[in-house]
Amino acid sequence: MQIGFIGLGNMGAPMAANLAKAGHQVLGFDTAGVVVDGVTQADTATEAVASADAVITMLPNGAILRAVASQIIPAMAKGAVLIDCSTVDVDSARAVAEQASGVGLMFVDAPVSGGVGGAAGGTLTFMAGGSDDAFAKAAPLFDIMGQKAVHCGEAGAGQAAKICNNMILGVTMIATCEAFALADKLGLDRQKMFDVVSTSSGYSWTMNAYCPAPGVGPQSPADNDYTPGFAAELMLKDLRLSQQAATSADADTPMGQAATALYEQFVETEDGKGRDFSAMLPRFEKRGRE
Ligand code: NAD
Repeated sequence: MQIGFIGLGNMGAPMAANLAKAGHQVLGFDTAGVVVDGVTQADTATEAVASADAVITMLPNGAILRAVASQIIPAMAKGAVLIDCSTVDVDSARAVAEQASGVGLMFVDAPVSGGVGGAAGGTLTFMAGGSDDAFAKAAPLFDIMGQKAVHCGEAGAGQAAKICNNMILGVTMIATCEAFALADKLGLDRQKMFDVVSTSSGYSWTMNAYCPAPGVGPQSPADNDYTPGFAAELMLKDLRLSQQAATSADADTPMGQAATALYEQFVETEDGKGRDFSAMLPRFEKRGRE
């Protein structure tokens, strides 16, 4: 396939490189002028998409996605598919889908989980929203860049799945960290805490696979002085998207709301910026009840 790839940052660059490595012709564009192995650099976004069968965007947020989409959709070839892999708000995903279908293009919102390691290793999980035809056209590319793609429903469903998942992730990380900090104050050994909880009803991905306590459980960013991993500010971005969606859908999400407020405080007024989102544990360690 001829592929246009817009947004060659931490995630986009290795994803585009994997597509090129698999034998596709990839024409890339990034405003920062990034050069990627095997990817031909285009001078403009429209040049990157003009003769592409598929266009992939991997951009920071919904406003930038909307701006880029308005630029590239008129330049895309009939029958092509636009695949947005960024994490953005559901409303932006649906607006771009409508714009694309208005001119006879297919659209899939396909945010990912798996982080920079998953992007480099081609082991991402894609959560996709769009028509059956659009998903079918994008699927072979998901197979190269990832290990799993779930077709979640119509346009916007991929973003919906992503932010619901990450709202659980943020809430669960906070719960795991506050429980460790409480256990510390109760004189409980952290390894014993892990041994019990990881095999009891309190188990979770944050405890079992990404334990926030250094030296306990599997290797995680906690063992590397909380170097991300998944940065606290990215967690905050996703939690904010969950609350934006909850407001627009009139859903009651008190735990999601509390997690958003806590990560906001951690990132914006404390020392969370640039640290892994599991650094909530040292934050709780330092604190008392009030
Ligand atoms: P990044 O900031 O490293 O990359 C974004 C790239 O987009 C940058 O290189 C930037 O120059 C480029 N860009 C910005 N505006 C542009 C424009 N108008 N035209 C062309 N290029 C433009 O971010 P990232 O970590 O690669 O994340 C990308 C998306 O993936 C985000 O939506 C993020 O939430 C999501 N995501 C990131 C991770 C992660 O671990 N980094 C995990 C899952 C999802």
